[in-house]
Amino acid sequence: MDKVDVVVIGAGASGLMCAATAGYRGKKVVVLDHSNKAGKKILMSGGGRCNFTNMDAAPKHFLSENPHFCISALRRFSSQDFVDLVDRHGLEYIEKTPGQLFCQHSAKDLLEILLTELEWSGAELKLNTKIISIDYKDDHTLVTTNQGVFACESLVIATGGLSIPSMGASGFGYDIAKQVGHDLLPTRASLVPITIQPDRKEQLAELSGVACDISATANGTTFTEPMLFTHRGVSGPSILQITNFWQPGVALDINITPELSLDELFAVRQNTPKKSFEGVLSTTLPKRLVDLIKTEFPWLNERSAQTSNEQIEALYQYLSHFDIAPNGTEGYRTAEVTLGGINTNEVSSKTFESQKQKGLYFIGEVLDVTGWLGGYNFQWAWASGYCAGQYV
Ligand code: FAD
Repeated sequence: MDKVDVVVIGAGASGLMCAATAGYRGKKVVVLDHSNKAGKKILMSGGGRCNFTNMDAAPKHFLSENPHFCISALRRFSSQDFVDLVDRHGLEYIEKTPGQLFCQHSAKDLLEILLTELEWSGAELKLNTKIISIDYKDDHTLVTTNQGVFACESLVIATGGLSIPSMGASGFGYDIAKQVGHDLLPTRASLVPITIQPDRKEQLAELSGVACDISATANGTTFTEPMLFTHRGVSGPSILQITNFWQPGVALDINITPELSLDELFAVRQNTPKKSFEGVLSTTLPKRLVDLIKTEFPWLNERSAQTSNEQIEALYQYLSHFDIAPNGTEGYRTAEVTLGGINTNEVSSKTFESQKQKGLYFIGEVLDVTGWLGGYNFQWAWASGYCAGQYV
């Protein structure tokens, strides 16, 4: 049996951060992961370049039943703190969209930094390690694995959510929480492409590959960012973002010309009567999308002077409430995150220790804290991992 101070289960973003932080405090730490590689999600994130933080990360960018829970950790370990860490290693990065920092070359560079930190801290990493059982004793916990038994004072669950099972995601963290009496909030795949109803799918599939700036609104929240038509439905930043707020049964409003008001459409007829609405739309929308609109409004290429008020109003309705007929999402297979999870009312926002089981800690995505798209989810992993690492 190996005696250690801390066992961290999960060698992902939050687990690696927590283990290195605890290791630097002189704790004897071992990180266990069932995968054959650490940080697989880091490697696949941000199109292989990992959007590792957002300089604007603030509690308002996170969803949780308990919105105050994330405040303390985000304050104690900010995006600037993470940038300071990667700067010390000379990571080259770029700001793609304001605030969103990506590796300049590859997410591998970032993972390399985390593994270097882990090594410098003295923490040990054991991959291909299957957890067989966890037994809580009075003053320690026994973690039995296919690689031996570990006795520890603190056990940290950093096993993430359910998204991308092929990358090692499992419901393990939820099971551990449930076993000691934690409340679990319903989980749902999020930051995920939306699928569309079969009768509309065929028509919209012709637009596959077309992208345009839209605004998507659900449950009172709007995102104005690009949308991409795909073979299966719609994707792109605006769509992924809105899935944090939309699910089947909730109204989803898509405006494909968010810059164009009804008054502006009337002004076209007033000020440029010889100009067609096709010409107007072609300045902002891709041709294939304008062609689709033309099938609904055959008069689109006529002079605007010839259009009636009713026609202009109908066109505006069509554009500002574009019917994508959503019927679901692609689910955990392609989702970036899992909404819901362990109810944070039963976890300390300071130490991340369970209020149900002494010496048990939960960090990262397994908790009911989900960020918007744009580097917020990694910032939560770093912040919660760092803060727990200070107390384990
Ligand atoms: P994870 O990083 O998922 O780590 C969990 C670890 O636990 C894994 O190594 C897993 O193998 C291990 N594990 C699971 N079950 C067990 C078990 N039973 N036994 C042992 N080990 C186990 N967020 C951003 O902020 N920016 C991005 O650019 C971004 N892009 C993304 C792209 C994709 C395709 C995906 C899927 C996610 C992306 N995310 C992004 C989200 C981000 O990856 C997660 O929020 C973050 O990795 C969560 O960190 P975590 O430590 O909680 O869990």
